[in-house]
Amino acid sequence: MDVVVKKSKIEGKGVFAARDFKKGEVVIKWNLLHQLTKDEAKKLSEKEKKYLAHIDGKIIVQQSPAKYVNESCNPNTHVKNFCDVALRNIKKGEEITSDFSSNLGPGETMKCNCGSKNCRKIIIGK
Ligand SMILES: [Zn+2]
Repeated sequence: MDVVVKKSKIEGKGVFAARDFKKGEVVIKWNLLHQLTKDEAKKLSEKEKKYLAHIDGKIIVQQSPAKYVNESCNPNTHVKNFCDVALRNIKKGEEITSDFSSNLGPGETMKCNCGSKNCRKIIIGK
């Protein structure tokens, strides 16, 4: 197993490395089976919208474990080809984090609780 889902210090549940990852390695491959149209996405509650990723013209309903990845202003992964890819070496036990500004719909906002020195507090979709 590559990752485990458990309680996070950042918010709710989080995803943690179950082994060491090298920079550039795929940490989580997204499940792309659940996609929505723009109209379908609009009907969702704020809580449900939290688990949407807007990327490359697709709206993806994130599944576990990808849906439990927390936002960080100092992330250790980024999104590439619908995968969370390590931005640096990640040690077993570290929480997997990502910058969500590229996943949010244009103009959408979310709060960030990452606790980094450079935390933006409010993340705005690009
Ligand atoms: Zn932050």
